[in-house]
Amino acid sequence: MAEKDSYQKLIDHHNKWVFGAPGPNLLRELFEIIFTPEEAELLSKIPFMPYKANYLSKKLKIPVEELTKKLDDFAQRGVVFRYQEGKRVRYAHGDLILMFLRTPWWTGIDDELNTKLAPLVNKYYEEEFGPEFMGQTTIAMRAVPVNQTVEDTRTIMPYDDVVKHLDHFEYYSVSHCGCRRRHNIDPAYEKSKYPTETCLHFDALGRYAVENNISREITKEEVKEILKQAADAGLVHGLENSIDGGVTICNCDPDYCLYLDSMLKMPDPVPKGLQKSNYIREIDEEKCIKCGLCAKVCPIEALEFIKDEKELIFHAEKCMGCGVCAYKCPKGAINMKHREGEADIPESGMEFGKRWLTERGREPAKFIQENSL
Ligand code: SF4
Ligand code: SF4
Ligand code: SF4
Repeated sequence: MAEKDSYQKLIDHHNKWVFGAPGPNLLRELFEIIFTPEEAELLSKIPFMPYKANYLSKKLKIPVEELTKKLDDFAQRGVVFRYQEGKRVRYAHGDLILMFLRTPWWTGIDDELNTKLAPLVNKYYEEEFGPEFMGQTTIAMRAVPVNQTVEDTRTIMPYDDVVKHLDHFEYYSVSHCGCRRRHNIDPAYEKSKYPTETCLHFDALGRYAVENNISREITKEEVKEILKQAADAGLVHGLENSIDGGVTICNCDPDYCLYLDSMLKMPDPVPKGLQKSNYIREIDEEKCIKCGLCAKVCPIEALEFIKDEKELIFHAEKCMGCGVCAYKCPKGAINMKHREGEADIPESGMEFGKRWLTERGREPAKFIQENSL
């Protein structure tokens, strides 16, 4: 009975955070696989907002050396985020996205734990977490056009430029894509045809991942090379959905990406895919030779090619402005042009969080109170 309680406490703790903890049954099973009851008990008291170990030690009444050792172990397991700024170290509980959809897969290693976790996490996302996560009006990731597919460069804002985004950072790392890795391990799915070492993290997140041996440090030039390889492979660049763009660049595929996959597979009325970019595909009919390649590479079926009639049909309402078709067109017949009006992008990660909470009927001020120590 006591064991059950500690897992329930952990579920309740996650329910207080931004993304909540939908579907308690599968979630309990997942927690039981990765945590002992004692670990679940301790984690249920670690806040999602960052605090120093000294402060946590006083509040939780656990000797600081003992607590730091446990927190560092959780950090290596991708469960607790460890921020280091100079000598100052703070710890924050990772949310369910970090814990299940991201860090376990970043190493690219198929160990016993990951082999066991993959089918369950996929089921949890598809049946319980995903429909609620993708059901929000504000989407967590935003498509950004492939570099150099926008002809009129005067229209490109810095937050729409995936390469300029790199200038905000001093530290770069690459990890394996959680969505593709999870599906590659799960025997219920075919292996992805896309590369996996394409998830890019910067500064505090990148340092955390490298220091804890779950990512690899790379240079800015290597990041640019990975972006190019991703574009060559037909992957879609995604940034966190805020003007500051966050500390991650995703390179998403149409088969297993948690955003794009939902677009093609989850039933209506779940809002779909990545947040659209400020751009939309525009074709120069005179240059087009009707080869149909753009329809083949479009990740979300916004283009259809009727072979016999050599006709291209464009579903403008679906186009997320990723530029994959423009990048791949052999005749340079596609340009990404600015859409009418500007997309309503949250100013910062904080603003994104406020919108998300408000959509869930929660008060941001009360939320801070509930999640503070
Ligand atoms: S969101 Fe995209 S890049 Fe990120 S882990 Fe999923 S598929 Fe990979
Ligand atoms: S890939 Fe280019 S040339 Fe081929 S059908 Fe599409 S727009 Fe036309
Ligand atoms: S048509 Fe498809 S590939 Fe082209 S920009 Fe739109 S969503 Fe991307």
